[in-house]
Amino acid sequence: MRITVLGSGDAFGSGGRFNTCLLVEAGGQRLLLDCGGSSMVALNRAGIARNGLCGLLFSHFHGDHFGGLPTFLLDAQFVSRRTAPLVVAGPAGIEARTTQVLEAAFPGASVNAWRFPIRFAEVTPGHPVALAGLSVEAFPMVHDDRAGPCLGYRLSGGGKVFAFSGDTAWTPALVGLADGADALLVECYTWDTQLANHLDYRTLAEHRAELHTPRVILTHMNAAMLAREEDLPEERAYDGMVIEP
Ligand SMILES: [Zn+2]
Ligand SMILES: [Zn+2]
Repeated sequence: MRITVLGSGDAFGSGGRFNTCLLVEAGGQRLLLDCGGSSMVALNRAGIARNGLCGLLFSHFHGDHFGGLPTFLLDAQFVSRRTAPLVVAGPAGIEARTTQVLEAAFPGASVNAWRFPIRFAEVTPGHPVALAGLSVEAFPMVHDDRAGPCLGYRLSGGGKVFAFSGDTAWTPALVGLADGADALLVECYTWDTQLANHLDYRTLAEHRAELHTPRVILTHMNAAMLAREEDLPEERAYDGMVIEP
């Protein structure tokens, strides 16, 4: 399994980083995990051929994770001229949310006669699904119910486990998400400002011993957090980082 961090930024592009977008490659298949508003730029900059992707998996429905879907779909229709089936997977409500985000971004686009089959797949905690040759297990995160259910994911394949928090405040569910994973990519939005819907570094550091994984990699950092990151013992994600769990 190989993960390329195409976007390691927060919602605001702090530090010039792209919104969250991870390219997951396993067993010859490629999948996007989150596709935020700036992700088409990130995909083009990295030279990722969209038709080589079998699908997209979303952690929640905020624009910096989900907002790239309209242009991804329109690119598939009009630019990449996709013919292969596409899986669009995510929390409960993924199909209705797709219609909403398409209509908000490009009114009328949701009734396109798509030239490729789209299969929607809901992922719910406690019910692992197979996606792109991986087993995908969802964990409930604590972020924003209006943009959820908000999920973290464990991707398992080839004897390796990669865990991704999506966006979340500290929750004991992170312990289960990380348990035995080869790597955990976890949001760390602020340095020490405690928020109800995001993690700060101090809180994460206090709970580090509960996370049973050898690699904790921080992402989704705001400007204040980025200003501190070089002093930290944990790995920090950056656009272009490759993670091989
Ligand atoms: Zn976010
Ligand atoms: Zn969010």
